[in-house]
Amino acid sequence: MVDTGSTDRRVVWHPFTQMADWQRQAPLVITHGRGCQLFDESGRGYLDGSSSIWVNLHGHQKAPIDRAIRKQLRKVAHTTFLGQTNPVAVELAERLVALTPDRLTRVFYSDDGSTAVEVALKMAFQYWQQRRPDPRPDKVRFLRYDNAYHGDTVGAVSVGGVDRFHAAYRPLLFESDEIPFPHCHRCPVGKQQPTCGLACLEPVEQALQTGADRTAGLVVEPLVQAVSGIRAMPDGYLSALAELCRRYEVLLIADEVATGFGRTGTLFACEQEQVAPDLMCLSKGITGGYMPLAATLASDVIYQAFLGRYDEFRTFFHGHSYTGNPLGCAAAVANLEVFEKERIIDRIQPRIRHLWKRVRARLERHNNVAEIRGRGLMVGIELQRDPASDTAYPVAAQVGNRVGRAAQELGVLIRPIGDTVVLVPALAMSKPQLSTLVDRVADAIEQVTDEQAAAPC
Ligand code: PLP
Repeated sequence: MVDTGSTDRRVVWHPFTQMADWQRQAPLVITHGRGCQLFDESGRGYLDGSSSIWVNLHGHQKAPIDRAIRKQLRKVAHTTFLGQTNPVAVELAERLVALTPDRLTRVFYSDDGSTAVEVALKMAFQYWQQRRPDPRPDKVRFLRYDNAYHGDTVGAVSVGGVDRFHAAYRPLLFESDEIPFPHCHRCPVGKQQPTCGLACLEPVEQALQTGADRTAGLVVEPLVQAVSGIRAMPDGYLSALAELCRRYEVLLIADEVATGFGRTGTLFACEQEQVAPDLMCLSKGITGGYMPLAATLASDVIYQAFLGRYDEFRTFFHGHSYTGNPLGCAAAVANLEVFEKERIIDRIQPRIRHLWKRVRARLERHNNVAEIRGRGLMVGIELQRDPASDTAYPVAAQVGNRVGRAAQELGVLIRPIGDTVVLVPALAMSKPQLSTLVDRVADAIEQVTDEQAAAPC
C-alpha cells in the first residue's frame, strides 16, 4: 500500500505552506467525506469547519450534485469553448444572469477565483480603451483596499493588499491606488459608530476626486473582506460606495468569490444593499464546492464596447483550456437547483443566528478575544495577547496555527488566518454540528491561550 503521507512529503509542494514545517509532521490525509464530516486514512471523522476553504455548501457527497456530474460524465467530460458551445454552460449562464443584479447580462467563464478577478481587471481596462463614442485611454489604474485579497495570479495580487503574502512580489506587479478598508474596530479615520456618519467614505471620495480620470475600476469584496480576517463593512457603506463609483465614472468590480452563494446570508452579498456592480466575480461555492469553475459577469454596456469588425481587434483576448467545462457547469447547475428546491437561503437564517449566539456565548468575554466579526456563516475571532492595548501575540508564537492544530486534535478542521480563528461552515451544517464546531474551537482557543499565558515572554 502507498504511504500517502511520506510520499506527499517527498514529492508535493503545498499552497501557503512553510514546507520546512510540513516536513516535520505527519500530514493529515483526508480520504473521504460525507455531509459536513471529513475522514482520514484511519477512519477518524472531523467536522469540516472551513467548508474545505470556503467552497463546500451542501455537504460532501450531496446526491443531486453527484448525480448531475455522473450524468454529464456519460455524455462528455470536456469540450473546448473556443468556436463552439455546450448546453450545460449555456444553461448555467442563463441562470446566473437571472440570479445576479439586473445590470449583469453576460457570463465569461474561467477556472477559479483568481482568474475570475483577472478577467474582470482586463475587461475593465479594455472597456475604457475602446468604448464608443468616448474612449478614455487614460483610465488604466485600479483602486484597491488595504488588506484586500483577490487571489494569487499577478493581476489579482496587484489589487491585493495583504503585505505578508504580497510584499515579496511588489516589483512584479502593476501599480494600483490603495484606499482604507472600513473596519470599525480599528476605524481608519478614528471615528466611532453610530455617530461617524460613514466618515470612512471620505478617503474613498478623495481618491476618486483626484484620481477618477486615470482609474478604470475599484475592486471590492462586498460586505466582508475575507482573507484579511473576516472583516465586515458597516451597514450602508457598500451602497454609498456604489453611488460614488457611479458618480465618478469608475467601474465597480464586486469580488463575490468568498461571499457569493449564501455565505453572508443572501445568495450574493451585493443584494443586501441593492448594489448592482459593473462586473462581478464568482467562484468557490459556484459548484457547491465540487469542481474548479469561475464566472465573471459583465454589464451590457461593457459587453457592447467589445463588439466590432474582426479586424478592429476589439475582441476580449482571454481564455483558458477548461473555459466552460461541462462537468463543472453541470455541478453548478445542480448546486443552483439545490438552492431553489431546498429553499437554502430561508433555511440558513436560524442556523446563522444559532452560530452567532453560540460564538458570543462561548468567546465574547474571553480575555484574549479582541474582536468577533463577520456576517452570516463567515466568522472571524481575532486573538491578541492584550486586546485592551491592541497588542498582538508574537508572530513566532503561531497562536492561530496552534489553535488550528488543537482543534484538529478535538475533531474539527479550521484554517486560521494569522491569529484570527476563522469559522466558515457549510450552509448545510446543522445546529448541533454548529454547536460542536464552536465548542471545540473555543476549547482549542482556551488551551492555546492558557499555554501562551504560561509561556515566558
Ligand atoms: N477573491 C476572494 C475574495 C477570495 O477570498 C479568494 C480566495 O480565497 C480569491 C479571490 C481567489 O480564489 P482562488 O483561490 O479560487 O483563486
